[in-house]
Amino acid sequence: MNIKDKKIAIVGGGPGGLTLARLLQQGGGNVTVYERDINKDARVQGANLDLHEESGLAALKKANLLDAFYANYLPDAGKLRIMDNNGNIHIDDHAEAYGAEHRPEIDRGPLRKILLESLQPNTVVWDSQFVSMEKENDGWNLLFKNEKEYYADIVIGADGANSKIRPYLSDIKPVYSGVTIIEGNIYDAEKNAPSIFKLLKGGKIFAFGNEQSIILSTKGDGSIAFYTGEKVNTNWVKECGINFENLADVKKWFETNFSNWDSIYHELFATSKMTIVPRPLYHYHSDQHWSTQSNLTIIGDAAHRMPPYAGEGVNMAMLDALELSEGLLHAENIKSALENYETRMFERAKEVTAITMQNTVEMHGPKGLQYILDMFVSLR
Ligand SMILES: Cc1cc2nc3c(=O)[nH]c(=O)nc-3n(C[C@H](O)[C@H](O)[C@H](O)COP(=O)(O)OP(=O)(O)OC[C@H]3O[C@@H](n4cnc5c(N)ncnc54)[C@H](O)[C@@H]3O)c2cc1C
Repeated sequence: MNIKDKKIAIVGGGPGGLTLARLLQQGGGNVTVYERDINKDARVQGANLDLHEESGLAALKKANLLDAFYANYLPDAGKLRIMDNNGNIHIDDHAEAYGAEHRPEIDRGPLRKILLESLQPNTVVWDSQFVSMEKENDGWNLLFKNEKEYYADIVIGADGANSKIRPYLSDIKPVYSGVTIIEGNIYDAEKNAPSIFKLLKGGKIFAFGNEQSIILSTKGDGSIAFYTGEKVNTNWVKECGINFENLADVKKWFETNFSNWDSIYHELFATSKMTIVPRPLYHYHSDQHWSTQSNLTIIGDAAHRMPPYAGEGVNMAMLDALELSEGLLHAENIKSALENYETRMFERAKEVTAITMQNTVEMHGPKGLQYILDMFVSLR
């Protein structure tokens, strides 16, 4: 069987989908990426990402993109301060001769740009929000919100946590982790949140206390990305009565719920130059499984969404891309390539989900700060 004779559709142009597209194209694959964003300049939101040697960086190495990565990474962004809710610093990478070079950080925007520029022209079809698909001959006919339709022999869902491709493989529903985050992005943080910007010193802060957390990182464009974490019930976002589009409402919630936190943290909600997104955190049972299909699979968050408390999400998405591309490019039989990929992916996701859920529970428990301090001391 020659994979070059097959039309491959990747739905979703996040880090997982674009890495897969690059790796398949390098091997001669005929790939199209269908992405919901309106164009390549759509703003990519979210905290920056640290890539790990054995996964994210391994995929970029195989894609011949390590030089481009190191031309765009943020050398100081991995430097961490672990703090408590009273504003005390317990571990400080800035004070110790500790580099974060083994887990280099990059903003999501530049990572996407590097991957996009590595693809052949017109590989990505923008403004393509996948809606549904139907079996046609040995492949699939995909339908998009803009009413366009495309045929593919093989479909790979890389469309993130709320994947619309996933239901064609599995009806397993995600489980609420118990923690909801409020994700924020403060633009021009030196001006709009000066004290916290100074405290970050170009790096990141993990802060714990009162069974709550705040994770902050400095982005390359001068903004700060952060998320507060707190144990609330499943439907809290819908039922709490807060209008998350009204910053004054959100500020009031933070002042009340994080009243045990030092005033420096309250600067996070003191500006109007920010965006806010509430996110209840979900994961899949660690023993999830489905029957392999002959021409369809999923990678990244579509396959194994989980809370961000182990920093593995993007790395797993990129490792999925690496392993799946190697399997497909050398396949005698597509179904066995997909089965091998899924077997390894399930095993890996099981381990990482267990670690992530332990972190999620402990970090928001009565000894959250001590848990993280012990973890970082043991890693050094
Ligand atoms: C607050 C927060 C902090 C995080 N921090 C880290 C971290 O430090 N380290 C880490 O490794 N991970 C982190 N993660 C997780 C990480 O962001 C994800 O695991 C990673 O982005 C998954 O990549 P992906 O390509 O699978 O999906 P995504 O990055 O979600 O990309 C999916 C793509 O599909 C597109 N799409 C969605 N639906 C459709 C559709 N219907 N049709 C067409 N296109 C569609 C989207 O527009 C998007 O471009 C964090 C997550 C959050 C929420």
